Amino acid sequence: MLKDKEVGLALVGGGHAHLFVLEAMAQGRLTIPDTVLISPSRWQYYSGMLPGLMAGHYTVEQCRIDLAQLARRAGVRFIEQSVVSLNAAAQSLCLSGGESLEYALASLDIGSETDLGNLTDFQGRLLCVKPLDRFHADWLSFKERVGKRPGGRLVVAGAGAAGVELAMAAAYALAGPMAGSPVKLVASEKGVLPGFSAGVRKVVRRELTRMGVEIYSGGAEAQGNRIQVGRNTLLECDALIAACGAKAPAWLQSSALALDPEGFIQVDAYHRSLSHPSLFAVGDIASRPSSRLMRSGVHSVRAGPVLVHNLAALVTGGRLKPFRPRAWVLYLISCGARHAVASWGPFVLSGGWVWRWKDRIDRRFIARFDYTHSEITEE
Ligand SMILES: Cc1cc2nc3c(=O)[nH]c(=O)nc-3n(C[C@H](O)[C@H](O)[C@H](O)COP(=O)(O)OP(=O)(O)OC[C@H]3O[C@@H](n4cnc5c(N)ncnc54)[C@H](O)[C@@H]3O)c2cc1C
Repeated sequence: MLKDKEVGLALVGGGHAHLFVLEAMAQGRLTIPDTVLISPSRWQYYSGMLPGLMAGHYTVEQCRIDLAQLARRAGVRFIEQSVVSLNAAAQSLCLSGGESLEYALASLDIGSETDLGNLTDFQGRLLCVKPLDRFHADWLSFKERVGKRPGGRLVVAGAGAAGVELAMAAAYALAGPMAGSPVKLVASEKGVLPGFSAGVRKVVRRELTRMGVEIYSGGAEAQGNRIQVGRNTLLECDALIAACGAKAPAWLQSSALALDPEGFIQVDAYHRSLSHPSLFAVGDIASRPSSRLMRSGVHSVRAGPVLVHNLAALVTGGRLKPFRPRAWVLYLISCGARHAVASWGPFVLSGGWVWRWKDRIDRRFIARFDYTHSEITEE
């Protein structure tokens, strides 16, 4: 199956599903000669713990995975760069350092970018949620300088799972210094947590209010360094956290891959590109014509073992396995303090114990891919 290319498998991005591929290689369950892992940073921040990191419940070391270490343990060459273009017909890609690589197989798990939409022209201090490592650095610098000032004003645009978690984490972290100037959360016309059940939305709205977050609906639009909501509301702001939507990277447009109208890679049930089956796409960047999924880490995690199976099948000539998304997915939404809301389909639970449950799951996830202390035995 593997053609005579310089790279057997190019793993692009260190997203959730690729962690499973690297783990399988480290454990000897999957072998593909000349595999490379390409990522702009050796540190893969775990989004599930980002709100807890902002709130001060975790240190940065507890919330990130060392991709270089994991790749080394997997016998994979780690390239600390970004892919800047890809030619699916020629099975080649270009790196930010100028080098190009030809691959026999490729897999893209590169997440998505923040879609600024009506906020593109914002002229104040903008904190984009993606990439997560830069967001964290920007948050620390905001907290250090503006956030300590009484009356500092923070607006969060976007009220999906990420936006509500970040708003409550920020409110918790800034409670002392910014008392009297609450964090403002701007939702679209669809309100807080569109796509979630009515019960979950109600409980999360209550938690937002409990944390002192002011909720606005009607979509956010930049007016200089202020935020317009609907026709009549203009919010002053010292910093804006943009968690408003996802977009695909522009470089995919020239890749010749089949893309959906929003530029995401169209894949079949096995997560292979519809147009170029030697390329897989998983996680946020994948678009399945058969079922429209909410972009979430849970789907990417669940796609990991399927991707491992299908890569092995391609190499050994076995049968591919379809990815079957679950109708209901468990979301654990942290609420600033050590308190969280669990959402599963129409069901909702909340409390300190939900936070501790989430905390255990998150820590286990990080520990699973931590190969810092494992020895590599030389043959
Ligand atoms: C604050 C926050 C909280 C969230 N909480 C939850 C939650 O509780 N539950 C949940 O299910 N989802 C949650 N999400 C959504 C979740 O983070 C995403 O859906 C998930 O991270 C997508 O995973 P992925 O594997 O597609 O890619 P990602 O985890 O985004 O990883 C992509 C990787 O690819 C790298 N990359 C990007 N471009 C390139 C390139 N050109 N070349 C090489 N590498 C590249 C990136 O640097 C990154 O390391 C949250 C999101 C945020 C922002």
